[in-house]
Amino acid sequence: MDTYRLERDIKVESGYDLVVAGAGPAGCAAAIAAGRLGAKVLLIEAMGCLGGLATAGIVSEFDPMANGEIMVVGGIMREIVEAMYERGFMPDCCEPQRWRKDHHRYTSFNAEGLKLLLDELVLGANVEIRFFTRVIDADLAGEGKVKGIIIQNVEGYRDIETKTFVDATRGAAPPGPRLPRLHAACRTPPACRPTPAVRVRGATAGRHPNQAFARQAMPGAIFSSSMAEKPTST
Ligand SMILES: Cc1cc2nc3c(=O)[nH]c(=O)nc-3n(C[C@H](O)[C@H](O)[C@H](O)COP(=O)(O)OP(=O)(O)OC[C@H]3O[C@@H](n4cnc5c(N)ncnc54)[C@H](O)[C@@H]3O)c2cc1C
Repeated sequence: MDTYRLERDIKVESGYDLVVAGAGPAGCAAAIAAGRLGAKVLLIEAMGCLGGLATAGIVSEFDPMANGEIMVVGGIMREIVEAMYERGFMPDCCEPQRWRKDHHRYTSFNAEGLKLLLDELVLGANVEIRFFTRVIDADLAGEGKVKGIIIQNVEGYRDIETKTFVDATRGAAPPGPRLPRLHAACRTPPACRPTPAVRVRGATAGRHPNQAFARQAMPGAIFSSSMAEKPTST
């Protein structure tokens, strides 16, 4: 295959203590935590909402969070699940015992509600967000050291200098010799694909049995028989 060498001068932005790439659950938590500690944080997301697979992917169940006696998950996750319950972003069958005590029980939630809550928490931590923006490369000051990251969006390319960088894109590519996680994040097409949650017009295999809210959000969707019959717990 022929190659074309792409070279250009791009603008450099600076002043961030932390740049987080990927605004899924992991990236949002990292950004919120750092923002609350007073860091100047930029959160970069390829898609147009916060939450990653949990919202855009409609993976709308929280995994089990307790061991039969106590809740073993805390911090921002606990704050989120409690707030989702308080605001009515869960089906009626989801009582707090489900995540605070029960062993191996999943908790369904409204993905649109999680988008709203994450917007609030991230902005409340004074985090700057750039949607529809992809990390595409790294500005390497030296071998394996990130001086800045290269992003691309409708405004073009930018080099964002940062003291600290978190890759929360869940690239999942095999480690490379120089900058394994970031290079994983830069794959095209995107490493993250929305998870098929329902069978839409018979085209896509169902994935999750507990999609009470997916039903409301997609009234035209055809659910597989197992999804149609199962209760909202596993
Ligand atoms: C099929 C499936 C089913 C699952 N079921 C459940 C479940 O029922 N309950 C549960 O709790 N968990 C479930 N999980 C796991 C859960 O989805 C993940 O643990 C969680 O999404 C991980 O969060 P994350 O923030 O690390 O990644 P993600 O949610 O994947 O977020 C990564 C974010 O990075 C962004 N991104 C990617 N590349 C770039 C780039 N180059 N530049 C900028 N942004 C980028 C993406 O758009 C995305 O928003 C499931 C996962 C899968 C795949």
